[in-house]
Amino acid sequence: MNLFFTANRPGGRSGRCGLTYPLRMRKILPVAAFSDNYIWLIPDSGRDRVAVVDPGDAAPVIAVCNRLGVTPNAILITHHHGDHVGGIAALRVRYPDLTVYGPANERIPHIDVPLAEGDRVELGDVGDQGIGFTVWDVPGHTSGHIAYVGEGAVFCGDTLFGCGCGRVFSGTHEQLHAALARLRDLPGDTAVYCAHEYTLDNIGFAKWVEPENAALLQRERDCHAALDADRPTLPSNMAQERATNPFLRFDVATVIAAAAGNAGRELDSDAAVFRALREWKDREYD
Ligand code: ZN
Ligand code: FE
Repeated sequence: MNLFFTANRPGGRSGRCGLTYPLRMRKILPVAAFSDNYIWLIPDSGRDRVAVVDPGDAAPVIAVCNRLGVTPNAILITHHHGDHVGGIAALRVRYPDLTVYGPANERIPHIDVPLAEGDRVELGDVGDQGIGFTVWDVPGHTSGHIAYVGEGAVFCGDTLFGCGCGRVFSGTHEQLHAALARLRDLPGDTAVYCAHEYTLDNIGFAKWVEPENAALLQRERDCHAALDADRPTLPSNMAQERATNPFLRFDVATVIAAAAGNAGRELDSDAAVFRALREWKDREYD
């Protein structure tokens, strides 16, 4: 197979990505949607089938699948927000055989297989070219948010972003802190597939927290280079997030000091540091 895919990067000046992606096994492709969403396509076998992660919009997914000659056979949903589920109904009409997986603890129409902590999702031919994910409950952004962990990757929706994390909506700060504390313990080479292109913006806040973090400053240069070339800044990897993402660094002395300085009080736990960081960003940055 020698198909090539030119990805769109949301918000790009040219609107087109200069990179081409050879469609090979396990080559996970971003489909740009809205202004800054990524809908990830996961090839699950050699038979031109893909799983679609968080299709907030059907049209760009159908367009890319037509161009590639692939057919979605599964949808993986992380949480109920419209920019992650809005395309499900139209994709079901266009691809009637597909199976929709999603969180059991959120109210989402069209879910065929409700999932919660510890459940397995097996796609394609298991044991041969199939792929499998384990479901983690990662509440905080929303109260029923799940992540798909496996194959050296994590699809984390709006829980963890490049150099940032989701806002706390229907969950709690304590839940989001616990979810991120668990995610950061994944192996350093775990590829982190977030649902939004927020990395460079998030780096701006991260520099308020750690202006002298050399890895962070290097990441900023790398992100500028990627975006200037119309390439996504994602996936990142967990080692990079641990080194640069303030929301995973709630136990680092410089981060604790910065959070306490902004809050104007001592912070007596990792969760308190995390909450102070999240509230600082909400209040003063964006
Ligand atoms: Zn969301
Ligand atoms: Fe979102």
